[in-house]
Amino acid sequence: MPASPYIVGNWKMNGTRAMLAEARAIDRAAARYPGVQVALAPPFTLIQSFAEAAQAIATGGQDCHVAAKGAHTGDISAPMLADCGATFVIVGHSERRKDHGENDSLVKAKAEAAIDAGLGVIVCVGETLEERDAGKAEAVVSKQVDKSLPSAEAIAELAPGRISVAYEPVWAIGTGRVAEVEDVIAMHAAIRARITAAYGDKGDGVRILYGGSVNAENAAALLAAEGVGGALVGGASLAAESFVAIIAAAGTESVA
Ligand code: PEP
Repeated sequence: MPASPYIVGNWKMNGTRAMLAEARAIDRAAARYPGVQVALAPPFTLIQSFAEAAQAIATGGQDCHVAAKGAHTGDISAPMLADCGATFVIVGHSERRKDHGENDSLVKAKAEAAIDAGLGVIVCVGETLEERDAGKAEAVVSKQVDKSLPSAEAIAELAPGRISVAYEPVWAIGTGRVAEVEDVIAMHAAIRARITAAYGDKGDGVRILYGGSVNAENAAALLAAEGVGGALVGGASLAAESFVAIIAAAGTESVA
């Protein structure tokens, strides 16, 4: 597993140009933590401005279409994301799976389209509360990993660290409820086993992030947990103060 933790902010459908000042503050602060890989996924409308201003952090998209171009009103393709400065894209977020009916095979196709366009990919998986309560969490998530990850052929030429899996229990997203650390460790181990089954040794470079109500208070414990390679952060990434506290929990500040 790559040594540097990966801390990714997902702004979802939040942010107008007035928020660029916040992004610049995050970028300046991230530069003080060279051992932490920091990235932000703003809404499509801000990607180019973000990417042009960012010095220390990567800019990404929150979704892409499977096709490179064509008659798909309102959609954005992976080459378009790359063209405006994105270097990665999140696919399969539970809000896309729920709001847009996205299934595992579509998520896989999106991940492969992103790789074709030269983007890194974060593939999101996670169980609902009903699935957890029914004792099915690990089976559900393992199946999502098996069916949503890009194929071994698609990642053959990809540099280590360009693909990540984000484990985000649906019931923990935006709710303030965080998974127990021991449950996170168990699920990350299950996901790691599926990644190894899919990719063999090549899978060692795939980071597994935790996401779901990560904040300044709980980040250190989650990031220190066995198998956790970083965090995907929604609400707490919208303000520099809270996001930088999470970055600080992931690494050591350099002395200038
Ligand atoms: C997310 O949407 O990816 C997320 C983890 O959101 P939050 O941190 O707000 O729970």
